[in-house]
Order: sequence, then C-alpha cells, then structure tokens
Amino acid sequence: TTFADLGLSDELLRAVTESGYVHPTPIQEQAIPYVLMNRDVLGCAQTGTGKTASFVLPMLDILTGSRAKARMPRSLILEPTRELALQVAENFEKYGKHLKLNHALLIGGESMNDQRDVLEKGVDVLIATPGRLLDLFDRGRILMADCKLLVIDEADRMLDMGFIPDVERIVGMLPKIRQTLFFSATMAPEIRRLADAFLSNPKEIAV
Ligand code: AMP
Repeated sequence: TTFADLGLSDELLRAVTESGYVHPTPIQEQAIPYVLMNRDVLGCAQTGTGKTASFVLPMLDILTGSRAKARMPRSLILEPTRELALQVAENFEKYGKHLKLNHALLIGGESMNDQRDVLEKGVDVLIATPGRLLDLFDRGRILMADCKLLVIDEADRMLDMGFIPDVERIVGMLPKIRQTLFFSATMAPEIRRLADAFLSNPKEIAV
C-alpha cells in the first residue's frame, strides 16, 4: 500500500513525501481510509507506531475547503501533556504546510491572553490539554458549536493523570453529531467504558 492508495489529497501526499515517508505504517494504513469516510475510530496503538499522522493527515483533508469563525474551533485534539500537545502541533506544521488551515495550542504555561487572541482569529484545529481548555471555556473564550471532529489521544494516560472527569465535561460541551477518534495504548475496562460512551459504531483498530 502507498499513501496515494489511502485517498489523501495531493497537497498532503506532497507533504508526506517531503517528510521522507515511503509507506504508511499499519495504523496509518488501517485508520486513514475510515477517518476519511467520517467514521469513528477506536485505535489501540502506542506512541512510535505513526499514530499521530494516522489522525493528523485525514483531519487536514477533512477540514480543507472551509474556515473557522472567531472563537469557534472546527476540531479538537485532547492530549494529556503539554509535550505531547507540542509534538502534535509540529505534525500539523509539517503535514499542513501546503494547506491554508491553522492550528492553535492551548496548554498550561503559555500566556492566556495570547491564547485568547488566537481563538478570536478562528482556529481550524485546536490542540489542548484538558485543564487549559476548560479555563478558557469557563471564561467564555471558546464556543464548541462548530467542533464536529474530536480526537482523544493517549486515553490511558488521561486516566492515569486523573483527567477523565475533565475529558467527560469537555466531550459534553461538543455537538452530539460529530466524528470522534479515540486512541489508547491499552484497553482497560475504564477506557473501554469511555470509548463506548464517546464513540458511535467505531471502526476498531489494534496494531
Ligand atoms: P508517532 O507514533 O506518531 O509518535 O510517530 C513516531 C515517528 O514515526 C515520528 O518520528 C514520525 O515522524 C515517524 N513516522 C510516522 N509515519 C511514518 C511513516 N509512514 N514512515 C516513516 N516514519 C514515520
């Protein structure tokens, strides 16, 4: 299988080639076509498997062609730590360089005023840790009505870090009709319960 077989746009294929990738990894090969079909995905995969590109590439493809309104992000990626959020943002820069989509990081330790200004400009992809997102939401700086594409990454680490109540609250703010991608390295019963609550008829992938 090649990346071209997976149904990604020419702009994304160019960025993939420029990244030096020749073949998709197993999680990319299995997830990307389903994400592009707007299916929910439950992915059991560790870091290092190419998991990030398996959601970033098709998200960029789906979001191409329209723009976000002020304070209304069109998609959200939840990460348990600022380091992971920063890595995902780097992936957006790399794969999105031939597209006109923008992303923003909402993580602790950065200026709340800067983050507020970025949100005002309209954000296609919001990459956030749960605490900072809820802070800005509670201050009325984010509206979730247009956020119809959600990624919950590293769900098992969210659980270990005690973020599940925050994640549940955030998911409750999003539109019910949406596409959700959920990734975890393990599928403990508590993770499975969350996946059942958040996903609708997901394609299950384990690598
Ligand atoms: P991840 O599992 O998303 O943290 O990715 C692990 C590493 O694999 C990152 O350094 C990526 O740049 C790299 N990578 C992702 N997809 C591919 C691919 N298809 N071919 C080669 N390297 C890749």
